[in-house]
This record gives sequence, structure tokens and C-alpha cells, in this order.
Amino acid sequence: MVRPIAGEGTAEQTWAAWPAMAQWPVLPLDATDPPLIVAPHPDDEILGLAGLMAMLDAAELIAVTDGEASHPRSTVHTQPELAAIRRAETAEALRRLGLGDAPVTRLGQPDGKVDEDALAAALTGRLAPGRWCLSTWREDGHPDHEAVGRAAARACEATGAVLLEYPIWAWHWATPGDPRVPWHRAHRVELSPAAQAAKAAAVAAFPSQIAPLGPEPGDAAILPPHVLARFARPFEVVLR
Ligand SMILES: [Zn+2]
Repeated sequence: MVRPIAGEGTAEQTWAAWPAMAQWPVLPLDATDPPLIVAPHPDDEILGLAGLMAMLDAAELIAVTDGEASHPRSTVHTQPELAAIRRAETAEALRRLGLGDAPVTRLGQPDGKVDEDALAAALTGRLAPGRWCLSTWREDGHPDHEAVGRAAARACEATGAVLLEYPIWAWHWATPGDPRVPWHRAHRVELSPAAQAAKAAAVAAFPSQIAPLGPEPGDAAILPPHVLARFARPFEVVLR
């Protein structure tokens, strides 16, 4: 279900004060093949999973869209310019994780209009029994994130791959203990200090999202500090 992503959302201090999070089981990092990481927009994979990718020192990325619709009222960049900028930011972020050689497939689907059937077919062709497939959560509250999650779920169902879903915007609209979130599926990915540092460097590779493009309201940062704070934890969370 698509939920409004507006306002300040739930503060990271509120999440940090929730004792349940510390008790979620730790995800064993026992993937045998490089995990298939599916990102609706350039930066989702880094916000949600950069630490996991650094810990595994392996990844194959499926970039579903180029994120050209992040600033529809920008006075600075056209959509084709934004797409090029965001593609380059992902490449730099992967390089900062030590994954500059990781395979990246860019599907170039339109930002805001993910083709779920085409994506499910593309993922099915790459998955095998037991391989990890990490996608945004099916109920994350953003239409593209949800479409990607549904497509990944179908592909995993068809192939016997292991589906792990990562929330992004749920940290904004949900609250601790929120009954709309299947917390019983939550697992922690514990990050080493080196993985945390690599993730911080990778997040900083997205100036088009973490800083304003210009002075006008249409150029405001998509990921201001209070949003980024949710992705600076010493652990990441996946729903298994
Ligand atoms: Zn996104």
C-alpha cells in the first residue's frame, strides 16, 4: 500500500530508543554467490545495503531506473542530466565500497513507472536456488519500491532464490512496533567499523540527493540529514 512520504517522519532517536531492534536475530552472512541487489533508484541500494555489500565484499546490482524523476521541478537539471548524474553517483559509491568491478545491469525503466513483469523476467533469468536476492520491501510506501519488491518476490518464488527485503521509506512513515510492518521477519546485519566507514563514504557519493541542487524549493535535497540519520546505524535491517 502506498503511503504518503511527507514531513519529518520518525526521528532516528525514536528508532534508537526502541529496545526490540537490539533483539532481532542476526542474519548469518553465509551467501555463497554474490547477492543480487535490486535498486529501484540509484542510492536505495547504498542506503539500505551498502554495509552488507561491504561485509560480503561482493554484489551484482540491478539498477531498475536511473532516478531521473527525483527533482521534477528542478531549475538546475533536466531529467536526462539527472539520470546521468545519478548513474555516475552509483558507480562512484560502489567504487568506495571496494566494489568498482561489481557487475551492474541498468534496466533504464522510467522512474515512477516500474514495469513489474519485465523486471520479474529479468530477475528470474539471473537467479538460482539459494542465491540471495535483495529488493526493497513490497510495502515500503513508494510505488517503485513496492513494484520492485513484488517483482523480486515473484522471481524468487519461481527460482527458489532467497528473498531478503530492505525497508527504506518505512523508516520514515512507520513507528516502533507499527502493526503495518512484519517485524517478526526482521533480521540485523551487524556492520564492522570498516563496513560502517565504507557505507558513510558511499552515501556521500550522492550529492544530487543529499545536498540541494540549487536555491529553489524544486532543488531541495531529497535526503536531508534527518533522513540520512536512519541509514547511519551500525547495523542494517532486512526482512526475511
Ligand atoms: Zn528509491
